[in-house]
Amino acid sequence: MKNQNRRLPGTLYLGARDMIRLVQRKGLSACIAGVAERIRRDFLRWSEFDKSARVACHSRDGVIELMPIADGRDFAFKYVNGHPRNTREGLPTVMAFGVLADVATGAPRFLGELTLTTAIRTAAMSALAARALARPGSRSMALIGNGAQSEFQALAFRNLLGIRELRLHDTDAAASAKLAANLAGEGLRLRVCRSTAEAVHGADIVTTVTADKTNATILVPEMIEPGMHVNAVGGDCPGKTELHAGVLSRSAVFVEFEPQTRIEGDIQQMPGDFPVTELWRVLAGLHPGRADASQVTVFDSVGFALEDYSALCFMRDAAAELGLGEAIELIPQAEDPKDLFGLLRPPAPVAARAAEAAPAGLAA
Ligand code: NAD
Repeated sequence: MKNQNRRLPGTLYLGARDMIRLVQRKGLSACIAGVAERIRRDFLRWSEFDKSARVACHSRDGVIELMPIADGRDFAFKYVNGHPRNTREGLPTVMAFGVLADVATGAPRFLGELTLTTAIRTAAMSALAARALARPGSRSMALIGNGAQSEFQALAFRNLLGIRELRLHDTDAAASAKLAANLAGEGLRLRVCRSTAEAVHGADIVTTVTADKTNATILVPEMIEPGMHVNAVGGDCPGKTELHAGVLSRSAVFVEFEPQTRIEGDIQQMPGDFPVTELWRVLAGLHPGRADASQVTVFDSVGFALEDYSALCFMRDAAAELGLGEAIELIPQAEDPKDLFGLLRPPAPVAARAAEAAPAGLAA
């Protein structure tokens, strides 16, 4: 059976170089704001998505994960790893790429870089959560863990919350120096601190974005002050946490997708019935969020597929707007879709093709 002229739609490939160009041309702040708004709108469509906890393949030094999600139109998945020891070998801790496909046919339409994009979407998500949960007027933030994600977090909180003062701490002094140098001239007052306790003291918001494959206690109850908002980003895998259980037990805890966060988030340390609220409820006005100015709120971030779907859609649309990326032939296209094998048939020799084409009787 012939394919009745139905052609496979093309796949747009947006690689790392084009993604860098895209972010430079649109501007990082515009990308963070655009992705945050896209996530917000998609979280308000929560019930339209077919959601599941991500599939993880754990190994001694890290994890490799697949994160699928779909609405009625688009299917998305992200491939992402988390290998905290990688930086010692000169490799990033987190590397990612992702796909958007048509739900109606399964045809892949977009294949894109998601390492840079993950930093953008994670920062956008953190700031979106903090905008709903932190005390209004929050101006200072402690930023613990000054690696690849940290500049993006700093700028998202400056842009979307009005953070003006940052206290930086990392066990690697070179990472803090890099962060301070990258943020110079960005309109933020910066202080590099010798300890987490020093950085956290008096801060309105505390972001933990460290990488260590262990049950770390970056924040202990003694560091937590009334009214703080904790944006806990680095505890995102079984056996990889950042908060002492006592920090969680005295806080109102908000999560992305509860079934996934129970496995991967800091709340993995808590009993299965430990109360948490999915953030979409707050964004939709179904839950008030922070109860009062002295309550401690925690966003137990692990990274959910819906955020990557939103980010992929944003980057796909921006690439189309800027004319970036290239059409690739990811799927072989047979004239007869049932004759996949036929694609392997070697082309007929030129002479034979000419003979086939010539009218009968004229052949030599
Ligand atoms: P990175 O390796 O580039 O940076 C991590 C930094 O944490 C390093 O500079 C390291 O020295 C520092 N660190 C480790 N232990 C510390 C400690 N006890 N105190 C202070 N600093 C410490 O990694 P990255 O790409 O910036 O990612 C950071 C973390 O965020 C990782 O754990 C990653 O898995 C996680 N992450 C989460 C999400 C999410 O959506 N929740 C998304 C992306 C990354």
